[in-house]
Amino acid sequence: MINKTSIVSTLGPASNSLDAIRALLTAGVSTFRLNFSHGLFAEHLSVLQSINTARAELPYAVSVMGDLCGPKIRTGVIEQGTVLVEDSELTISVGDEVGNAEHFTTSFVDLVDDIQVGHRILIDDGQLALWVVDKTPNRLICRVLVGGPLSSRKGMNLPDTDLSMPPITDKDWQCVDWAIEHELDYLSLSFVQHSQEIQTLKEYVQKKDSPIKIIAKIEKPLAVENIESILDAADAIMVARGDLGVEMDLAQVPLVQKKITALCRRFAKPVIVATQVLQSMIENASPTRAEATDISNAVMECADAVMLSGETAIGTHPVLAVKTLAHICKSTEVYIEALNELRPRMDRATEAAHAEVIARAVAHMLDEVAAEMVVVWADDEILCRLLSKARIDDPILALCPNPTTAQQLSLYYGVVSVHHPPVASYEQWIAAVERIVLENEWAAKGEKLLLLPPLSALSENTAGAIIMHTLAG
Ligand code: PEP
Repeated sequence: MINKTSIVSTLGPASNSLDAIRALLTAGVSTFRLNFSHGLFAEHLSVLQSINTARAELPYAVSVMGDLCGPKIRTGVIEQGTVLVEDSELTISVGDEVGNAEHFTTSFVDLVDDIQVGHRILIDDGQLALWVVDKTPNRLICRVLVGGPLSSRKGMNLPDTDLSMPPITDKDWQCVDWAIEHELDYLSLSFVQHSQEIQTLKEYVQKKDSPIKIIAKIEKPLAVENIESILDAADAIMVARGDLGVEMDLAQVPLVQKKITALCRRFAKPVIVATQVLQSMIENASPTRAEATDISNAVMECADAVMLSGETAIGTHPVLAVKTLAHICKSTEVYIEALNELRPRMDRATEAAHAEVIARAVAHMLDEVAAEMVVVWADDEILCRLLSKARIDDPILALCPNPTTAQQLSLYYGVVSVHHPPVASYEQWIAAVERIVLENEWAAKGEKLLLLPPLSALSENTAGAIIMHTLAG
């Protein structure tokens, strides 16, 4: 059975090996995330090589995302066993010495200039909170408001501070070049605030002739304010709930998620719901009821993909977490199909009115006639994206002449994509479709497929046809 909701898995020490990557793919992963916040390029390269080996063994495409840190500030290395004590004082400075409960460092050079007395510093997704009570020319003096264990390289959020850091840092640009050179499929940019940041990145990758697609991570209040222009500029969106819940009132996070997923349907842009999806499974072998309900709600809100972070990067049960996520998504997908009422109008998908008409025609046909699968020739991704966003009941098989397009489509809801060279005739195309579908047992002999064949393989008077085909085998 084809999983419709895509699963993004962050790789890390718990899952970097070739065997682990193979097991994650078997469990249902469709996109891997390399997190540039951690690790060296040599380490990312070795993981990418394992992904490439493992994905070449599959009959369908899988994508790789590189996650750019953006202006994310992190603590330096911290002594093991460090615990910040509530109401105690500590200092922070710029540097790279090993820190402890009295003093730690960060590499953020404008720390003391940018942060003012009275500002809050939230660490590790808000688990720890400091309040700046004073400063010297090169140190911040802070009181611990919320204490607890502190480990190395934890994220620091500064919700009260206007940062002078550029939205795309020098380190990010190095990562962009690396991602282009190693032909990653997606780049996600952290802490986006304006559409301009996405445009800058897109112009850069276009100049380098790279097909890499850009995902805007929404984790700042200003990005929520500017969401429509960011949606216009980006290829896809990630609701990055971890930092979002620190940068703004936690109670707003579910509402922001609902707003963004609804807008992504209108704009026909893929959306990933991320962070703490199966947080308890970092340690436990089964999820909480609240986690299962959250995942189901994300699928019902028409998320294209759900992302695992620590669960697969450092967790005790990475493969089980993916299997659990796939199972919960599948149950909701079956429920939604029975309801048959999630038909969005993509009234802001202005780039492809003709594709929307075809997508809606396919959706209406499937109300009248039963087919196991819709098969589309995906020269570019637009028709496939709109079919996916139309939430048609059937899975979509996309045959793509371009391998990168095939990989990128693996992020879209309901799509399984396969790289296939161009065909010379309709007959050749049908033969390829039959072989792929039957070999993978996606449908059986005698069952029906709804076909949207390549225009080049059709005669003029059948161009644009939607064809009902019975699998002969
Ligand atoms: C998040 O904050 O939700 C997120 C996905 O960001 P990261 O994992 O890169 O910190």
